[in-house]
Formats: sequence, structure tokens, C-alpha cells
Amino acid sequence: MSPKIPFLRPSPPPLSQAIDRLQEIESSGVYSNFGPKNSELEQQLLATFFAGRGRCATVCNATIALMLALKTVAEDSPPQRRYALMPSFTFAATAHAALWAGLTPIFCDIEPDTWLPCARSETRILEQYGAEVAAIVPYATFGAALDLDRYVALSKRFDTPVVVDAAASLGTLDPAGSGFGTGFPFPVVFSMHVTKTFASTEAAVVYADDAGLVARLQTMSNFGFGEARHATMAGLNGKLSEVAALAALLRLDGFGQIVDRRRELYEHYRERLTGFAFQRPTAHRQAHQFVPVLTPRGADVEAVSAALSAAGIGHAAYFRPHLAGQSYFQKTCIAPPTPVTDDVSARALALPLYDGMTEAEIDTICDVLDAVA
Ligand SMILES: *Cc1c(COP(=O)(O)O)cnc(C)c1O
Repeated sequence: MSPKIPFLRPSPPPLSQAIDRLQEIESSGVYSNFGPKNSELEQQLLATFFAGRGRCATVCNATIALMLALKTVAEDSPPQRRYALMPSFTFAATAHAALWAGLTPIFCDIEPDTWLPCARSETRILEQYGAEVAAIVPYATFGAALDLDRYVALSKRFDTPVVVDAAASLGTLDPAGSGFGTGFPFPVVFSMHVTKTFASTEAAVVYADDAGLVARLQTMSNFGFGEARHATMAGLNGKLSEVAALAALLRLDGFGQIVDRRRELYEHYRERLTGFAFQRPTAHRQAHQFVPVLTPRGADVEAVSAALSAAGIGHAAYFRPHLAGQSYFQKTCIAPPTPVTDDVSARALALPLYDGMTEAEIDTICDVLDAVA
């Protein structure tokens, strides 16, 4: 039985309503390899989210984009630098990307209120492993804004580059009101997967203020062809098709209203669910992909989940188990103790959010939660 209220209801821009623009692709005869729709998308993303500063490169998805960014920084590092410092409280793609780039993840803990990487935990690990860390890889948890100035300082202090997993943060404004990432010298990776707030089909964008770095990464995404059909560096195929670029371009129309409406819905949850803990906001405006909450202490998260399922309400366990508890990462990564992550993860529940959701649907969900927790 499909749930009465789904966890997510993907609503990418309807390509069927954009026949004329699909025909433009067909008559251009260009379907990929950095075609005109892709160029238009890169320009519009840069203008919309990054004040026209620096450079954007599209990639087929954020996992490949993270691989490209991590491979680029790994290639620049001496071989003894073989670790990637990242939180255990993130999606599997962050660790997979580091492993594909030849780096071993070391997991740090998170802050108890923002669920962002813990500054003390990161510093402690860098003091211990600093000379062997190739990249600091913070995750902008659930679309939050990281304090990027702190990462610039950390990078200088430990002479280590940064790659930001901002998969869910396209549309997030930092405390100064700029698009999250604007002006940052290192790669910031955003997903435009259909389940993210910026829902297209499958796509991603890498941004950095350092245009040369983004250009190298883009060359890497085209088989490392620094010269015509001549590999001058590591490479793979990470290019975005023209149809996928068009879907992302269409999502730009009215995107600000989508983010604002999702924020209203999120706030409605917050007002209703007083017994649950919400992420402490760090952004001027956060793009909300779904609604992560922590069940009240003492409540049984599995009982809460069962009650939601019985009522036909979709939900998910982001991130339980966290990376250190997943069998592949137990074999391949370094996992110092992460007590805060253990606690947050054990209580984490992600509640429904989608374009077109109503306050009445949220009330239905909250009534179920009130009755059980
Ligand atoms: C969604 C997500 C990714 C992967 O994005 P894709 O575009 O689906 O590859 C990576 N990291 C995090 C934290 C994510 O949430």
C-alpha cells in the first residue's frame, strides 16, 4: 500500500510543457559535451546563486562532482596525504567519493544543535593527522550554511584544501544573505537531483571562486582532455546532457518562491512539534529538502516510525546508521568515537516535505506524532 502522505513527492519541471525548448536541442544537433543549454545553465546558476563571482561547472550528479573535486585536490597533494576528514553524519556518497578518489575517510563528530561538523572534533583530528590529510570535507547538513570563514582559516592553519559537500544547499542563503558558497576559494558541490529542493532530473554543479580550479575539474569531467583527444590529467565522463541541463534551467523559474513556501511549511512543523528537537538554523534562508527532527529523549524512535507507517505517512531515517555504522565503511574508513553523532543519529527522523504540500497534511502528521511521543 502506498502511503497516504509520501515522504517526498518529486516534482521536477515538466519537460512535456517545454516542447519548443526540447526542439531547440534537436535542431541544434548537440546533445551533450558542454552544449548551449549547458552553457546557459552555468551562466544562470552563477548569476542567480553566486553573484556572478567565480565559476560554475555542471556535472552529471553530485557524487561524480565530489569525486572530481576530491581527485583534483588529491592529485595536488603529496602522496602521504591520504585522508579525507568528513563527518560520519552524512550521506554515503561523501565517503564513497573520497574512496573513489583514492582517499581514506576519517570521521569527525557533529555539533549537538546544528548537526554540522564539530569544530573541536575536526581540529583534534587535524592536530593528530594534519600532515596526512589531503582534504577537509565538511557537509552542509540538510541544506544548512557552514561557517566558511572558519574553513578558510582551518585550511591555512593546516595547509589543507577543503571540498564542501553542499548537496542539499542550492537555494540556501548564508547569514550575510548571499548564496551559500559565494566567494569560497575551494570547490563547493551542490546536487540538483530530483529529491533535492532544486529538483531537476539528475544534475549537479560545482562552484568555486577560483575559476582555474573549476576549469581543471571540468576538463577532468571530460576524460581529462586538456588538449583535443589528449588526456593530460585523470579523467572520467561526468558531463551533463542537454536534456538534463534544460530540466535544471526550467527549475530556475520561480525557484525563490519554492524555497520560501517550503520554509513556511517547515515553520508550521516547528510550531506544532514542540516536543521534538529541530536543527538550529545557521542560514539567513535554508533550502529545506525534508524535515529532519529528533524524537524526544526517552521516546522509542522505532515506535514513532511504526505509528507513522500505520497511519500511511512516509518518512525516513537520515542518517541512521551513520557512516561509521555501515558495514562497507567499517572496513574502509577510520572512525574515532563520535558520541554526539551516535545520540543524534539514534533519535533522527525525517518527515515529509514537498512542493504543493498543505498545512492540513502537516497537522495530520503532527497529530500522529503527538499521540505517540
Ligand atoms: C544527495 C546527496 C549527495 C549525492 O547527490 P547526487 O546528485 O544524487 O549524486 C551527496 N551528498 C549528500 C550529503 C547528499 O545529500
